[in-house]
Amino acid sequence: MQPYTDSADVVHFIGGKIERGTGDRTQAIFNPATGASARRLVLGEASDVDTAVASAKAAFPAWRDTPPIRRARVMLRFLELMNRHADELAAIITAEHGKVFTDAQGEVARGIDVIEFACGIPQLLKGDYTEQVSRGMDNWTLRQPLGVVAGITPFNFPCMVPCWMFPVALASGCTFILKPSERDPSASLFMARLLKEAGLPDGVFNVVQGDKVVVDALLAHRDVKAVSFVGSTPIANYIYETGAKHGKRVQALGGAKNHMVVMPDADLDQAVDALIGAGYGSAGERCMAISVAVLVGDVADKIIPRLAERARNLVVKNGMELDAEMGPIVTRQALERIEGYIETGVKEGAKLVVDGRGYKVPGHEDGFFTGGTLFDNVTPEMRIYREEIFGPVLACVRVKDFSDAVQLINDHEFGNGVACFTRDGNVAREFGRQIEVGMVGINVPIPVPMAWHGFGGWKRSLFGDMHAYGEEGVRFYTKQKSIMQRWPESTEKGAEFTMPVAK
Ligand code: NAD
Repeated sequence: MQPYTDSADVVHFIGGKIERGTGDRTQAIFNPATGASARRLVLGEASDVDTAVASAKAAFPAWRDTPPIRRARVMLRFLELMNRHADELAAIITAEHGKVFTDAQGEVARGIDVIEFACGIPQLLKGDYTEQVSRGMDNWTLRQPLGVVAGITPFNFPCMVPCWMFPVALASGCTFILKPSERDPSASLFMARLLKEAGLPDGVFNVVQGDKVVVDALLAHRDVKAVSFVGSTPIANYIYETGAKHGKRVQALGGAKNHMVVMPDADLDQAVDALIGAGYGSAGERCMAISVAVLVGDVADKIIPRLAERARNLVVKNGMELDAEMGPIVTRQALERIEGYIETGVKEGAKLVVDGRGYKVPGHEDGFFTGGTLFDNVTPEMRIYREEIFGPVLACVRVKDFSDAVQLINDHEFGNGVACFTRDGNVAREFGRQIEVGMVGINVPIPVPMAWHGFGGWKRSLFGDMHAYGEEGVRFYTKQKSIMQRWPESTEKGAEFTMPVAK
């Protein structure tokens, strides 16, 4: 099966069909490894959002009324197709995002986990029931789908992050509009095609490509009942406030600055492997990437030389080459931003141990490459500590003891992921209890929760009350209704003017 990405233009998917839409604005889509642009993205306009919302709204009643087990069967067929086409999808991701192919395969696998979770939707939608809340009266709660919902997603996981949203929303009975990142939009169309092949009715899943114009039209549209967003913190904040102002339910997952504490008793071989993989994997362009190593006591002097050696020797090349450990950065602008931060770090007085700037890959001179960068002696006032760099730059902060490590992390404005490497069970337990971060790893550097546990940070890493996917996802896409029922053989007569109580 050919993906929808063969044509020169990447367009929308509305009402079960590829649609060019009404706009004439376009934007180049690059292969970051070569720097070349093979295709153009057609950016949507507010009128395309209107068409997509109308299509999703029209499809909603029949999809809502489809028994959950039948919706689950569509998901089951989609699951099977995603497994069958996983490598094609991974290759599309590598071609537009740049991450190494095996990492793209991992992303697809983690997206598939959520689809598999959504196949259990009949169990997840079961309500609660209390018999005999008063004589002859029962009370139960059920959850009903919200209606048309939208997802706005970032460039760094063009398959997995949409899969945090739409499988759960669709299985719950909502209809969906996806606004993918304009950097790597093709994965969304590939999945749209597989959903159609799985038997999803037209209009239930739609893709509108574009930028702020499309986002703003979705936020303001009265028929969009909820918005799930994943991206940077300033935009997450904007989405949350604007969506709420328009009366929508919003979950907006934002940026991160994830710390990994290495205690003096940790297995240092494991800690070095973890920091290298979590700091430089996917070129640091993961919201759960480790960007700060918090080195406790005498750990720094022991591991910084080892980290430096490994960072200098990272295999950086086109992600389609199977020995690549790190691919390019997504865009030239992002590359310039990251290398600008390295300059800032030097000016702020951090010690630049390994400088990845200006990295050239032979045969890919126009690719957006930078090498791994390592800083020592980073302090909390520095911008390279406070701000999200979102690149392969690992900052080492030296602290005296465990409580200083916890305080440092709790004082940071972000609270997405965190890890602690130790062999001490009590330290691990206290870390888990005291740390003000949404997702915690003990000797696990990137603790992305499994599909049935839900994903979400704390502080300015998440705006809204509910985490993505898992049971929180089901709650997000549904609303609770309580029904109290009594049948006519009831002997009680007459109006009641006091608050009803159990009799
Ligand atoms: P981004 O915020 O630039 O873009 C995210 C989405 O918002 C895109 O679809 C984009 O088109 C849209 N957008 C961008 N600017 C907008 C504007 N002014 N108004 C309305 N919409 C706008 O993020 P990105 O660069 O694509 O992704 C990287 C960011 O995402 C990082 O900050 C990373 O930490 C974060 N992220 C967070 C998580 C998480 O779970 N917390 C997961 C993945 C990525």
